[in-house]
Amino acid sequence: MLNVSNNFKVILFWNKTTWYSLGALTASLQQYTIPYMTVKGDIIPHIQKALSHDLYVIYGESARITTLKSIEERLKLIHKEISSPKVITVIGGPHASGDPQKILEMGASYVVVGEGEVTFPELILTLAANEFQHKYVKSLPGIAYRDENANLVQTPPRERIFLDDYCPFSDNKDFRLHPPIELMRGCAFRCRFCQVPYLYGNPRFRSIDSIMKIVEHYIQHFKPLKDHIDIRFIAPNSLGYMEKKRGQPNCDALNKLMKELTRYDVRVFFGTFPSEIRPEYITDKTLSLFNEVSNRQISVGFQSGSDRILSEMRRGHSVEDGLQAFDLLTSHGFTPLFDFLLGVPTETPAEQWETLSLIRELGKKARSRLHYFIPLPQTPWKASTSSPLDPDVQSEIGRLAKAEIITGSFAKQLQIASRSD
Ligand code: SF4
Repeated sequence: MLNVSNNFKVILFWNKTTWYSLGALTASLQQYTIPYMTVKGDIIPHIQKALSHDLYVIYGESARITTLKSIEERLKLIHKEISSPKVITVIGGPHASGDPQKILEMGASYVVVGEGEVTFPELILTLAANEFQHKYVKSLPGIAYRDENANLVQTPPRERIFLDDYCPFSDNKDFRLHPPIELMRGCAFRCRFCQVPYLYGNPRFRSIDSIMKIVEHYIQHFKPLKDHIDIRFIAPNSLGYMEKKRGQPNCDALNKLMKELTRYDVRVFFGTFPSEIRPEYITDKTLSLFNEVSNRQISVGFQSGSDRILSEMRRGHSVEDGLQAFDLLTSHGFTPLFDFLLGVPTETPAEQWETLSLIRELGKKARSRLHYFIPLPQTPWKASTSSPLDPDVQSEIGRLAKAEIITGSFAKQLQIASRSD
């Protein structure tokens, strides 16, 4: 164990779109007995207060494409308002991992590349054990920084963690975070627009024992506070939980999971936000596992109404698979919440119309969440540009939104995509 001073403060920025990652990160800090505080809104007074007590400050945030601009603004503000060598800024998360150079150019001292559960605490502890001299952290795996000549240095990647070794919640008495339970990390598919498999590789699963320990903890924590205890999950493809072969749901494991969950007095939300299901995993057999869940809405990645575009995306399913999922879900009394993606590379106006016509046809029997393609770092489409929207397509999107047939942050994504082109 490093001999660590306590002359520092860890300040983490709380953002509603990244707080699940913050849950895992703060849980890990707690495991390493590193105190921290989370802050919403104006960070400057908190940093100044810590500096006035002669403390070093390690300021951390998680970066996604949607939070990049605000992170850049906060980093600029720290440099402008404080500009002290005692403030060390550390950014992690999917976007930082995929494009560390950009984050360092924004002014961060370090980037945590890949999973932060071990790297972030080790970075803090190593700095704190060595009077915050940067030379001592330069060999830590999984980080990026700029050397004395302002060149980007990225150290070798760190081994992937076992999910069971890390809990997703933190119980710091002032800053508790209890996010949905991460069932799996990584994905066996390789969709060209998605960061998950390129950041995390093939799926790793949290064991049922570990899930149940977390459920018990959530019951203990929330019982005095709430009438209902809701258990939700994070998974790129919930019905892929514990699968041994890609595309073949492990119904025994899923069944066992459901049985264990329904032993408790909790409301179980499965296959719904913040997780999703691939359409071809929806069958009569897998839907029979949903008898006890509390959600009537199931999130499914349909992505396009064009088979050619699905193939370009490397989705590995067809439009017909999506339609079958629609029939099965509605016949079992569920409302499908379909995700669709427009503007992917090579998409023609005719193919955009195929997607919109499909959405109109599904109408209000489904809910359709429309997204606009943004090239993400580390994906095969990282250097591609989005296909522009035909003006008639844009008008139709407006009509569908007005008729409440589509939802989502389409306009915001369009704006971000135009900035990154
Ligand atoms: S979009 Fe879903 S299925 Fe495709 S790679 Fe990403 S997580 Fe996997």
